[in-house]
Amino acid sequence: MEGWRCIDPHVHCRDWNESYKATIREVAILASTQGVVAIIDMPNTDPPVTTLDTARRRVETARREGVERGYYIYVAATPDIGQLEEAVGAVANLRWVAGLKMYTAPMKGLEASTIEAQRTVYRRLSELGYRGVLAVHCEKTSLFREELWDPSKPWTWGYCRPPEAEVESVKDQVRLALENDFRGTLYIVHTSTPDAVSIVASAKEQGLKTVCGVTPHHLMLSLEDMARSSGLALKVNPPLRQRRLKEGLLDKVREGQADFLETDHAPHAPSEKLGPPYLSGIRSLDNYSKCLEWLLGNGVSEKILRDMTYNNAKRVFPMIEE
Ligand SMILES: [Zn+2]
Repeated sequence: MEGWRCIDPHVHCRDWNESYKATIREVAILASTQGVVAIIDMPNTDPPVTTLDTARRRVETARREGVERGYYIYVAATPDIGQLEEAVGAVANLRWVAGLKMYTAPMKGLEASTIEAQRTVYRRLSELGYRGVLAVHCEKTSLFREELWDPSKPWTWGYCRPPEAEVESVKDQVRLALENDFRGTLYIVHTSTPDAVSIVASAKEQGLKTVCGVTPHHLMLSLEDMARSSGLALKVNPPLRQRRLKEGLLDKVREGQADFLETDHAPHAPSEKLGPPYLSGIRSLDNYSKCLEWLLGNGVSEKILRDMTYNNAKRVFPMIEE
């Protein structure tokens, strides 16, 4: 979109041991061609960003690759108390650390998959007086039905990790944040169901500082699209949803209930997606500006879109300079 300056609060730049998938430099250049002037990189890298030292090294890598501006990172928030303290210290001490990220679903050992583990994170962040952003990937592992996944029918991924796994996990996060008097901003990433967006909206009314984001792929594609030959290429977490839910999610966007447009840009080698291990992740930054045009053409007002692509991110992540 001509003249738009956007912020993408959720990308995976890979790099390091996964440089064959993408590098920080490549993703930053791609972002700029799409009108995205600042990105926030997720910590599930190889090795993961869990400490002050890895956070520093991450930004040094960016600088070495010539990325001087508009690059920010999250540090993982795990249920390990010592790690959590270190992560909070990284947010306090490094101005390019935009917040913390917690995984409720399996993610390279970084996850807090039980309620007890998640409660530990909220309680400790509260005790440490943390006031920054906690981004959370919400899928309740106990509701997964692994036995339904059949790579020869790629759409079964949507049954394996069903909508209720997201909805129930979002409810858990809101409850845990309120119960533990969490004072930061709870950011529910990549909401893929209208119910999840509604839960965030009513949590705001209860006085919780909370926001949610939606991705281009959950708005523009549905589970039915996975029945095409390229179905495995569309495997993503959380999965694409059935058309009815996808339309419901778009309604929430039209109503101005989604705070961010986030790409969750997640490059892989094609062979890793189309064959074992059938990795999840879509290169959604490739189509960012197309998605903006699509949303404007599908009843989303320019005011709402400006808020979702820039104004809300500037408010929630005040450290961002482009
Ligand atoms: Zn992600």
